[in-house]
Formats: sequence, structure tokens, C-alpha cells
Amino acid sequence: MSATFDVINPATGSVLNAVRDDGPAEARAAIDRCVAAFATWKAKTAFERGDVLRRWRDAMLRNEDALARMMSQEMGKPVTEARGEVRYAAGFVDWFAEEGKRAYGDIVPSHAADKRLLVMRQPVGPVYAVTPWNFPAAMVTRKVAPALAAGCTVILKPAEQSPLTAIRLAELWVESGGPADALQVITTSDPAALSKVFFDDARVRKLTFTGSTEVGKQLYAQAARTMKRVSLELGGHAPFIIFADADVPAAVQQVMASKFRNAGQTCVCANRIYLHDRISEEFSDRLSTAVKALRVGDPMNEATQIGPLVDRAGLDKVSAHVDDAVAKGARAIVGGHAGEGLYFQPTVLTGVDRGMRIMEEETFGPVAPLIGFCDEADAVRAANATPYGLAAYVWTRDLGRAFRVAEALDYGIVGVNDGLPAAPHAPFGGVKDSGIGREGGRWGLDEYLDVKYVSIVLPAGVSS
Ligand code: NAD
Repeated sequence: MSATFDVINPATGSVLNAVRDDGPAEARAAIDRCVAAFATWKAKTAFERGDVLRRWRDAMLRNEDALARMMSQEMGKPVTEARGEVRYAAGFVDWFAEEGKRAYGDIVPSHAADKRLLVMRQPVGPVYAVTPWNFPAAMVTRKVAPALAAGCTVILKPAEQSPLTAIRLAELWVESGGPADALQVITTSDPAALSKVFFDDARVRKLTFTGSTEVGKQLYAQAARTMKRVSLELGGHAPFIIFADADVPAAVQQVMASKFRNAGQTCVCANRIYLHDRISEEFSDRLSTAVKALRVGDPMNEATQIGPLVDRAGLDKVSAHVDDAVAKGARAIVGGHAGEGLYFQPTVLTGVDRGMRIMEEETFGPVAPLIGFCDEADAVRAANATPYGLAAYVWTRDLGRAFRVAEALDYGIVGVNDGLPAAPHAPFGGVKDSGIGREGGRWGLDEYLDVKYVSIVLPAGVSS
């Protein structure tokens, strides 16, 4: 019997379950199995792999409620949101089950009459996937579905806070006819020690990581030792720019969806809300009314909109950001304090300015900081003044401005009058400190395919 560690329900503080606490020895054995499985999985046709993936998608959808309840219990998101996440997660499987069939090659026009130049795309090999707790299902399928569709095999290491959903997804994979060694889940309370085994092993050809920028940079450096392909989906600090000609009620509704989803614990959450001076008062009044009406409570209750934060460290960070902003002159016009347990009151801050921590670091909590502006160029400059570059949002009815600003923003994703741009068939990812590579859509499959160039000299013909 190997060691275990506990998974805690953040809403109640009680132990939900215990999972295996794997170490380097288990990692080495898992890699051996993953490498062996690669030889047979890559030899299947994309059509055969697609069949298994589609059955896996169906199994997820059949288990929507059970998976949603599991997620809600292990990391605290409202169960209604968790159901949406199961459908979103299954959407990646659905998309890549088909997209794997479109891993087309090329024939390049030749420079020599007797040569033929072919380009084929082949799976990169065994993959090490590391995922965060904030989307326990979708962050898994966004990596694993394209990897498996491409013909790669995967070892997935979920976050310590939310391993149960990942384990259940792997069980459903096997129940759907997927080879157990093609998708393995490894759980540990010491991710650094376990991950070292993967970075030292040249047979593991790819690292795909979603998590904080700080950890992502460490893993990027370690992956260089065995020259792995890397995809890094890291932190964000999304600006939400609302111009004077915006549809203010619609903008408020979308800020609510973007900022307060998952209690503000998403990488694309609005972190800085820039309001043009002419609509600033109307917007903050409407937003305050909406935020006061949010139902905070037990995430398993169907009516709840805001659950607890994931853990004590998360709560402490949110409190520290709000305290720092208030100490430097901001005002909490709604909320402003921690509640019971791991809850933080949904908060609106006005008078926020540069130099406050909330303007520079990811808050990852239900706090909406409002900042005024009066001119387009200033708003764009302020929005870009961050090392992050994941998602940005622009609210305007002026088509020229929409294009101008979308093109000027140094971000991987721009929502124009759209607070929820993510979709399984669209590219998701960032620039600068927000990472490398894209997940979703055809770009998501490319991350798991290597390009092979085959140059053929045709033997001289024999006339008979
Ligand atoms: P985290 O970086 O602390 O942990 C992420 C994963 O890395 C976990 O599985 C963890 O166990 C593992 N890990 C931590 N230290 C490690 C180490 N030294 N070696 C190997 N693995 C290690 O992040 P988190 O708190 O789980 O997630 C929140 C972060 O994820 C936020 O910054 C958020 O913006 C980011 N995120 C980004 C995206 C995106 O698509 N860009 C999506 C979701 C979350």
C-alpha cells in the first residue's frame, strides 16, 4: 500500500478522499508504460483513435452530474458552473476526435525535376501534462484530447487540490475502450520531486503545463535539459476597457460573467476594469447593484453563484490585495472583507491606481478594481503595461476603434464586446509572461505533432 494524501473540501474543511502520493519510483514505472503504449497507440489510424475519443466524450456527458458534483466538492466552484465545465471539457474531446483526422501533410513544389518533397506530421511522443485546480476537467481535456488524437500517450499530473476529477476522467477513458497506459494519472503531494524524473528522461518528448507563471518558468528551464517540446498556459492580468460608446448594461453583465465566474479564479478573469470617464458612474452603480445581488454560499446548492476560494493561501492573497489597495487610497464600495471559512465577499474597488498590488499581480478572487481613463491611447498603454498577455477585453460600438484597439493590445486573446471568448475550436493562449503555444482548434493539435520532411529522388526510369 503506497502513501496517500488528503483531498480537502474547501467549503467545509472536511476530508473528501485520499489519493496516492506517488514519488519518483512510480513516475519511472509510469513512463515505461507510457513509452510502450506509444508504439501501439500511434500505429492506430486517426479514425480508430477518434472512435475511442468520441466514446469518451459520451461517457463524460452521461456522467455530467457526478463529475460536476465531484469538482464542486474538491475545489469549491458552484455546481451549476461545474456542469457547464463538464460540457466544455467534453467539447474539446469532441473537437479533437475529428481534428485528428485532419493532421494533413504537404507536397512542396520541387526545385529539381527528379525530386519529390513531402512533409508529414507525426505525434511528438510521450507527453507529461501538468494541470491546475481551477478547471479540474477542462484543463485536462484541453491537453489530453489533442495529444491522444495526434497519437501521443500521456501521463497527467493534476493539482494536489483537485486530483479526483482527473482520476475519474481516466477511469472513463478506460471504460470507453481507451488503453489504460495511453492515459495515466499520477498524483503527488511533492510535484517538484516527481516532475524531476520526467525532465531527466529523454523519452518524454513534451511538457504541457497550465498553471502559474512562476512555476511555468521553472519547468520551462528544466525541460531544456532533455530538449522537450513545451506548451505553457500561464497566468494573466486581463484589462477590461469600456469606452464611452459601449452598451453599458451589456458590459456590466459580461464583467459579472468574466470577473465572478469561479469566484474570480480564472486566468482570463477581468483583473483591471478601465472605465471611460463619461460612463464611469453609470457603470459602477450598475455593477455594484449586480455584485450585491450575488448569492454566496454552499457550492453544492443550485442557487449559489459564489463559492469559497480554493485554499487558505488563495484567500490570504485576495485579502492582502484588497488591504494593500485600501491602504493606498482605494475604496471598497461593495464588500472588501473575508467571510467565514475560505469565503471572500464579492467586492468592488474604486480609486484603484498604479502601484497597488492588485494592478500588478493576479488576484484570483471575487474583486473588481475600477480605474478611470479619458483617452483611447492612454487606455491601450495602461492595458499593455504588464508582463502578462493572456486575455484582454474591449467594449465599444465603434468598428474602427474595435479593430484599432484589438490590434494594439499585446494579448493572445481579445474579446470585443465579448466577456467569454473561449471555445474548444478557437486558439487559447498568451504572449509574454502568459506563456507559449495555443490550446484548442487546429492550433491545439499542432502542439502534439512534429513536422517530418521527406525528400525523394526518383530513380531514373527504365523504358521497356
Ligand atoms: P500552480 O502553478 O501553483 O500549480 C499548477 C500545477 O503545477 C499543479 O499541478 C502543481 O502541482 C504543479 N506544480 C507546482 N509546483 C511545481 C513544481 N515545482 N514542479 C512541478 N510541478 C509543480 O498554479 P495553480 O495555483 O494550480 O493554478 C492557478 C494558476 O494557473 C494561475 O496563475 C492561473 O492564471 C493559471 N491558469 C492559466 C490558464 C491558462 O490557460 N493560461 C488556465 C488556468 C489556470
